[in-house]
Amino acid sequence: TMELLNNSERLSIAGQLAAGIAHEIRNPLTAIRGFHQLMQNGGAKQQYFDILSSEINRIESILTELLMLAKPQQVKFDHNDIVSLLVQVTSLLETQAVLTNIRLAIRCEHRSLYLRCDENQIKQVLINLIKNAMEAMPEGGDVLIEVQAAEDRLHIEVSDKGKGIPNHVLAHIGEPFYTTKEKGTGLGLMITQRIIANHQGSMKIDSRFGEGTTFRIEFPLGSEPKAAEIGKA
Ligand code: ADP
Ligand code: MG
Repeated sequence: TMELLNNSERLSIAGQLAAGIAHEIRNPLTAIRGFHQLMQNGGAKQQYFDILSSEINRIESILTELLMLAKPQQVKFDHNDIVSLLVQVTSLLETQAVLTNIRLAIRCEHRSLYLRCDENQIKQVLINLIKNAMEAMPEGGDVLIEVQAAEDRLHIEVSDKGKGIPNHVLAHIGEPFYTTKEKGTGLGLMITQRIIANHQGSMKIDSRFGEGTTFRIEFPLGSEPKAAEIGKA
């Protein structure tokens, strides 16, 4: 049994992911095949088209998130202003927020604060955390994003007053494909944690069931890029 344990421990994240992906994509494919057959047999109900469409969307969103992991595009570490990244990310999410009665607020005492990071990856982290906060408040509410600098660290907090995370869910956070949402992929926080680790950062979760959740992340504080470096490839 000792050996077995070691073997399963050695199962790489890639192996776990591959197994998860196969499973997660086979489910919607099975449904698609089933309904396709039903439709071939003459029953082309609107409901079947809707199911097909939602299963196809599911495969698509899983693949879109996985691609983030698979091709780290061009990773480019630069000193970026986190306040400006936040403004970009929140305007991206603004339409969705308005539709769901959510207000996104950024609080920061500085006009800008710098983080040495890959811009796209950090945007992805912010999007994942803000989206989760929004999804935790289906009736609407405020999402507060606070940015601070203290002792050479950059602190970012994303808070919601949503349903909170019960302990049994907390224990699985970051596991690939672990989701409690009907349309979730369970990939957001795994990707988020990986990106944060790649940036020498850390993440803590402070959640009260029924009251809300705060995700706290921190990184080494960056510095304002020197004028000569701005725009340099
Ligand atoms: P997904 O959002 O696709 O479910 P994530 O990895 O982003 O996947 O999140 C995993 C799970 O963590 C969610 O399904 C949810 O149960 C829980 N969770 C994450 N963020 C929050 C939050 N702000 N409030 C409540 N639950 C959360
Ligand atoms: Mg998510």
